[in-house]
Amino acid sequence: MLSTMQDVPLLISRILTHGSTIHGTSQVTTWTGEAEPHRRSFAEVGARTAQLAHALREDLGVVGDERVATLMWNNAEHVEAYFAIPSMGAILHTLNLRLPAEQLAWIVNHAADRVVIANGSLLPLLVPLLPHLKTVEHVVVSGPGDRSGLAAADVQVHEYEELIAGKPTTYDWPELDERQAAAMCYTSGTTGDPKGVVYSHRSIYLHSMQVNMTQSMGLTDQDTSLVVVPQFHVNAWGLPHATFMTGVNMLMPDRFLQPAPLAQMIEGEKPTHAAAVPTIWQGLLAELTANPRDVSTLGQVTIGGSACPPSLMEAFDNLGMRVCHAWGMTETSPLGTVARPPAHAVGTAEEFAYRLTQGRFPTSVEARLTGPGGERIPWDGESAGELEVRGPWIAGAYYNGPDAEPLRPADKFSEDGWLKTGDVGTISSDGFLTLTDRAKDVIKSGGEWISSVDLENALMSHPDVAEAAVVAVPDEKWGERPLATVVLREGANADFETLRAFLADEGKIAKWQLPERWTVIAAVPKTSVGKFDKKVLRRQYAEGDLD
Ligand code: ADP
Repeated sequence: MLSTMQDVPLLISRILTHGSTIHGTSQVTTWTGEAEPHRRSFAEVGARTAQLAHALREDLGVVGDERVATLMWNNAEHVEAYFAIPSMGAILHTLNLRLPAEQLAWIVNHAADRVVIANGSLLPLLVPLLPHLKTVEHVVVSGPGDRSGLAAADVQVHEYEELIAGKPTTYDWPELDERQAAAMCYTSGTTGDPKGVVYSHRSIYLHSMQVNMTQSMGLTDQDTSLVVVPQFHVNAWGLPHATFMTGVNMLMPDRFLQPAPLAQMIEGEKPTHAAAVPTIWQGLLAELTANPRDVSTLGQVTIGGSACPPSLMEAFDNLGMRVCHAWGMTETSPLGTVARPPAHAVGTAEEFAYRLTQGRFPTSVEARLTGPGGERIPWDGESAGELEVRGPWIAGAYYNGPDAEPLRPADKFSEDGWLKTGDVGTISSDGFLTLTDRAKDVIKSGGEWISSVDLENALMSHPDVAEAAVVAVPDEKWGERPLATVVLREGANADFETLRAFLADEGKIAKWQLPERWTVIAAVPKTSVGKFDKKVLRRQYAEGDLD
């Protein structure tokens, strides 16, 4: 028997209409680098979104499920593109502006983008790419930046503001199938080639509701969220959609992502929430130590994308900025777990340990651990296995072109359709995930596993260490051993013996796990989304004799 309930599709246009009317006075504030940031209400964003959709349809001829790409910073116009493109039935394709040019061209061609909306400041990146982009016919430019490079390009060029001016401020959004593609995002390629993940209206809608739950970010219209995580990095972790559901104000840093302007933004605009990867916060911490500012309004800082070092969590706590650790992937929309301690641990000595885990799974994310032979690993908080997940906002395949079958590589999807995350860890009986490593980063020494993350966290808790990344190097006797690459703080001079003794102290790290190979580097190489790029370190050091 079927239910008697209405079958109303879960659509992005619904989130837009709701946000721009019910929460019409909430604001998107975009940092400009000048005395006053730019402010636009959700109602204005809604009207301009309709204008953009009219322009895309009537002037640029966007129809059906064509892909419209964005090469943009976090700003109000990017939010407009976020809503206009899927609401009209087309597919938003956010381009990661930090990818190498070759990869970016590959991705645009693979997705067959016909239109690119770009920020003027990013034209130096886009213009040299254009001759290699086979399907792009239109470039729409928004915001400051020299346009002259586009004069010789074989595309039609439009000014964003001129294009939308005078267009109707409402749009009769189509009633789409909720399972239809709404947005696509390619994995940042930390491991291997980029792969396209295609989100549906339904998956984004349900994911946004989860982001808004108290057990996740739990924000309301009294909050302002500083969205540092780029809109090209897994839909800015769902924040633009989630904020339109609840009226949370958005503070957008545009291209001002350096620690000093971020500190200035926090002091000036007083956001109550912020989200970004740990490296951004390490930079901010150094800035605040050198130039203290009042950042006390920032009550909640969502950190994810890579493990949050305990030293960072502690330092932020001391500044009144409470870290909430979360785990996710491009393939998981990204919300997979959030580390909110259970009631019994709040206010006890256990609380900090709970907050350091990757967190608990929400109702809609089912999880299991699998051993090397495919066996199920128990949730006992001790036995480690590869994490596999499934749920309504988890990818079941990768994009393989409009007419080809979706890709389901065996190393990414189990036979029964679960996503193999490539992350190794334990799950406690009350559902808290602790990741010990990425399968590819774990150090296999004499048949035992050494967690690179544990070593890094222990090293980064030494006052002389700014950053540390640990990779496996080949070893004749043990197969692999850890190599510690360390970035020292300015003026610090701790030597390896001191650091080794520090790791061994109080049993922080077992003796057999202590690295015997060390090197000091100027900076840990980072991926396009600001994570430690261990691929580069491995390439650089795996062969060398570093004793
Ligand atoms: P890429 O796979 O290209 O790095 P993603 O942003 O999708 O791009 O990265 C997802 C991966 O990031 C996860 O599989 C995991 O290894 C890592 N990750 C994300 N959040 C955390 C976290 N809180 N702790 C540890 N690792 C994390």
